[in-house]
Amino acid sequence: MTSKLGPFTDSASHDEALSLDATAAMGQWRDQFVESDPDLVYLLGNSLGRLPAAAVDLVGHVVDVEWGDRLIRSWNEGWWDRHVELGDSVASIIGAEPGEVAISDSTSVNLHKLALAAVRARPGRTKIVTEDLNFPSDYYVLDSVAELVGGRVEMVTSDGIHGPVDELIAAIDEDTALVSLSHTVFKSGYTYDLGALTSEAHAAGALVLWDMSHSAGVIADGVGRAGVDLAVGCTYKYLNGGPGSPAFVYVRSDLQSMLHNPVRGWWGHDDPFAFESAYRPVDGIRAFHAGTMPILSLSAARPGIEMIADVGVGRLRDVSVSLLAFAERLFDDELADLGFRWNTPRDPARRGSHVSLAHNNAWQIAQALEGEAKVLLDFRAPDNIRLGFAPLYTRHVDVHTSMMRIRHVVESEVWRKYPATIAGVT
Ligand SMILES: *Cc1c(COP(=O)(O)O)cnc(C)c1O
Repeated sequence: MTSKLGPFTDSASHDEALSLDATAAMGQWRDQFVESDPDLVYLLGNSLGRLPAAAVDLVGHVVDVEWGDRLIRSWNEGWWDRHVELGDSVASIIGAEPGEVAISDSTSVNLHKLALAAVRARPGRTKIVTEDLNFPSDYYVLDSVAELVGGRVEMVTSDGIHGPVDELIAAIDEDTALVSLSHTVFKSGYTYDLGALTSEAHAAGALVLWDMSHSAGVIADGVGRAGVDLAVGCTYKYLNGGPGSPAFVYVRSDLQSMLHNPVRGWWGHDDPFAFESAYRPVDGIRAFHAGTMPILSLSAARPGIEMIADVGVGRLRDVSVSLLAFAERLFDDELADLGFRWNTPRDPARRGSHVSLAHNNAWQIAQALEGEAKVLLDFRAPDNIRLGFAPLYTRHVDVHTSMMRIRHVVESEVWRKYPATIAGVT
């Protein structure tokens, strides 16, 4: 009898995990992250990436030397332009060109900037199309934008797992100003074909705005090749930028002079230190800034983002596909008979790097996994546990351990001692 934490080493599937890890050869990258508890299986890299050891050193330096000693002189000693290089690193990660990505604000704020700018660039059209798998913040933003321009949001209905592609295409018409979707949806992990939907929207004369929060760093489809107009996304998920690290904004270069950032501020001005009372936007992507860059957060974000850019998203995608295929097989063998349902597309091409498993007791199981079995994953209402596999540091052996611990927690019914009432940050 193994303990609830394992090791679960006496099986063919464990041997297979080791050999898949040897093939993936990502150990040198994993070693660059802080790991205080080797027994913990962390499956939330899609929500808050791990801490790169280099970020600890860099933030220490920025605090001690740049802030503590150099004080305000640091603005001229690198702070003012520090975001530019990082924007170009994110550009390479999402398949954009240098000068097409700015680092700024939160994803929600950036979505507001781009959605309103896009709708205003399509005067006479009143409709924004989205669907019911999108992230709540995106709905709030799109509703707010529709309210500001006197338009409306059309919400297309899905089956709860797969993007309703045909229904979206049917909804996009000559009254549509903007189509706004998550590239990889936050709950089921369904992942759109960026190019296919973008072309459909373009054929109807609409602009497309993709939220790449759950795809940046793990999906290799580039915005450039797909002809994407606009995108936003988080840097604290698979890009390992740290809690609340500034988000990114992508505007295709030929659209930059045609779209106007509605959140105006001096950081988007052509000559900020002239302190003019009239707003004159700077040329290029910097016009999508508003206020002062959070230098500490920006510093913390750099090592994680640069690591992803260095490894290359093509390689990360290959590892991610392998991790999910392995998880799916273990799910079918070990968990399917315990009341779980696989709530993620079965087609590897149509999913990101996380999966959702539905179970009637999902909330109690999620709590027990953290409290009894050292598996950190999250609960997404009404009945899903969500497992993120960050290919930079999640190993096949972690997938194996987590599936075995989930099996143990459910079979032993230890989850019954946890409250059924949902509370706190899930
Ligand atoms: C995580 C996430 C967000 C979060 O936005 P913030 O403004 O950074 O809090 C937005 N959209 C999607 C699709 C997400 O997954």
